[in-house]
Amino acid sequence: MSATPANPYDNVRIVLVETSHSGNIGAVARGMKNMGLGNLWLVNPASFPDETSYARAAGASDVLDRAQVVDSLDEALAGCITVMGTSARGRKVPWPIMSPSACAEKVNEEAFKGEVALIFGRENHGLSNDELQRCHYHIHIPSNPDYSSLNLAMAVQVVCYELRIKQLEALEAEGERTALQPMLAPGDPGWDMQAATVGEVEGFFGHLEQVLVDIEFHRRENPRQLMSRLRRLFQRARMDKMEINILRGVLSAVQKSAGAPQGQTKAGQDQG
Ligand code: SAH
Repeated sequence: MSATPANPYDNVRIVLVETSHSGNIGAVARGMKNMGLGNLWLVNPASFPDETSYARAAGASDVLDRAQVVDSLDEALAGCITVMGTSARGRKVPWPIMSPSACAEKVNEEAFKGEVALIFGRENHGLSNDELQRCHYHIHIPSNPDYSSLNLAMAVQVVCYELRIKQLEALEAEGERTALQPMLAPGDPGWDMQAATVGEVEGFFGHLEQVLVDIEFHRRENPRQLMSRLRRLFQRARMDKMEINILRGVLSAVQKSAGAPQGQTKAGQDQG
């Protein structure tokens, strides 16, 4: 693999050490592929390849097909410039410990320079001290201290998710739109209608107030805070042009059935 790949995450190896349940290997492959990773290394798995691993991998069987099976951690780390080991437990001699999100930040820096290995331990007793001491950093998922050990595939998923988020954040910083956007809103690309203008919204409020007067729900001489509260309600909705049109249609129908003159709005506010 080149030191400066088009996608730096091609330089990220997920290394599983002596996994006993092949179902976990399949679940890891699936979780990796979901997050855009595909470079899996297996150090002495108890059983691989087998039916269970492929069953759990679902559509990620290609990750299993390409998995590298090796006899030692040394082989899995050969050629890497940065090594990170994951552990649920603190050790007597503490190592530089970091969260999955800090790990992802580090991976973003390092994967441009060369290959990075993220090591995950055995289901029954994790990584040995010697294995952890092969690492530059320890990654700890901040789980419940009274029950800190995650299922292997879930631990891989958490770390790979953080890698994905950091990758998407980097793309956003370069000006690309990504699925990170918190909530699609009127005016965003992908929304089916244009956002309403301030003038259109003001036209609606004028019309609404007039209708409330027509039906004797609202008295201008004793307004209380009715219009303020209704404004706040509708402003929270960030209405689009179509929604404004529908609401104004409803208001016109109310005026018609109440026998009020149609299309009457508060002067000067209908700037559509
Ligand atoms: N019983 C083992 C944990 C095994 S869980 C122990 O005490 O170490 C299998 C693997 O999942 C671990 O080796 C580690 O790679 C990962 N893992 C599980 N929980 C984790 C956590 N809270 N933080 C980081 N890695 C974790």
